[in-house]
Amino acid sequence: MYEPGVGNGPAVRADYERRYVEFWPAGVATSGWFLCASCGNTVIVRRVLPRCMLCGERLWERAQGSGASASTAV
Ligand SMILES: [Zn+2]
Repeated sequence: MYEPGVGNGPAVRADYERRYVEFWPAGVATSGWFLCASCGNTVIVRRVLPRCMLCGERLWERAQGSGASASTAV
């Protein structure tokens, strides 16, 4: 989990700079990086969004990180 680092980042993590977060439900055919809306688990979806294997959440937020080398995901 994310520990609120001392003097490193805001104490309250609200919606940071994102103004609009779109959630994707399990079962949607898509691909890419997704973050669990509940626990923040990261998955690489190849075909269909699953349920979170950690907490069972069905909603996902598309990860917008561009630094990850997703090309290595098989
Ligand atoms: Zn989860």
